[in-house]
Amino acid sequence: MNLKRSLVAAASAAILCASPAASQSHTRWKIHDMTRPVPAKVDASVKLPVPPPSDAVVLFDGTDLSSWRAADGSAAKWIIKEGSLAAVPGGGPVLTRDGYGDIQLHIEWAAPTPGRGKGQGRGNSGVFLMSKYEVQVLDSHENTTYPDGQAAAVYGQYPPLVNASLPAGEWQAYDIVFRRPRFRPDGSVAQPARITVLHNGVLVHDNSEIWGPTSWLQHLPYESHPDRLPLQLQDHGNPVLFRNIWLRELDEEPRPGPGRHQTKPIITMTPLMLDNYVGEYGEGGVQGVVVSRRDGTLWAKFGLLPPLELLPHSEEEFSLRWTAATVMFKLGSDGKPKTLTFHIGGEARPTPRMSD
Ligand code: MG
Repeated sequence: MNLKRSLVAAASAAILCASPAASQSHTRWKIHDMTRPVPAKVDASVKLPVPPPSDAVVLFDGTDLSSWRAADGSAAKWIIKEGSLAAVPGGGPVLTRDGYGDIQLHIEWAAPTPGRGKGQGRGNSGVFLMSKYEVQVLDSHENTTYPDGQAAAVYGQYPPLVNASLPAGEWQAYDIVFRRPRFRPDGSVAQPARITVLHNGVLVHDNSEIWGPTSWLQHLPYESHPDRLPLQLQDHGNPVLFRNIWLRELDEEPRPGPGRHQTKPIITMTPLMLDNYVGEYGEGGVQGVVVSRRDGTLWAKFGLLPPLELLPHSEEEFSLRWTAATVMFKLGSDGKPKTLTFHIGGEARPTPRMSD
């Protein structure tokens, strides 16, 4: 490769590295594509308000703005109007004082009535999870705009599965389950954010993977950010109302991994020793247990279930693989099991041995 060519190649590589979003397309649709299929209209009816459960963090109950602030940290510029939190055009967004990561969020909103404006200018606000990922708020009852920007869209990424919008002035609800993105120590994305949304009780996003921060006209790449960031409501110049805002913080999802299931040591028993346990316990039928041996492993068949593997921890104690269930054998003076007791969920079910 000559010098000129290598310089061109290096420059191209630098451009690709500088704007990774430009090199990837997440969908066959262009951002804000008007030829994208329009979500079908669904007549929704939802009973509101939905009271917060006992473990909820109540962010707005109609009485005060103490959980909220302006972007610069000063007092929130929005106003409380008849128990609602009203966006003040030009007042800027409002952000929660605390940060949140994985959450279940309930929020009710109403587009201004009488409806004014059209497209993106009609009842526009937004619920920004972690201040970065917007679920669009818009009067989309009878209002044409690009599908990835209508009410309940993950803005610029996913239109809602259906349009469950109610007319302006009517209270509507979003119920959102949000899993924040996970970043590796080097800042790369280990797991993108995921979102499930119900609009007025109707599923509009089903565990969708968010590609990066939502934005007008842009696919922005993820940039590593803290695990907890404020929830933000957008000022888009329209006096949208909000009320009954609460969330529940979610525990991290448990991850499967080795070593979590079995902590007790497993002992080795010879086939001859295992044959001691082989036989029928109980009266048969659904309550009976049949113990059998296949090669070096014991199996217990409970009623109609297929045989389940028994792991020996001692001559008396076995467990069922992958479960918290224990099988205890009571041995007679001859060393042979006389009773099998099945333990699960704090209950014990002893069954006498019926035959070898
Ligand atoms: Mg918006």
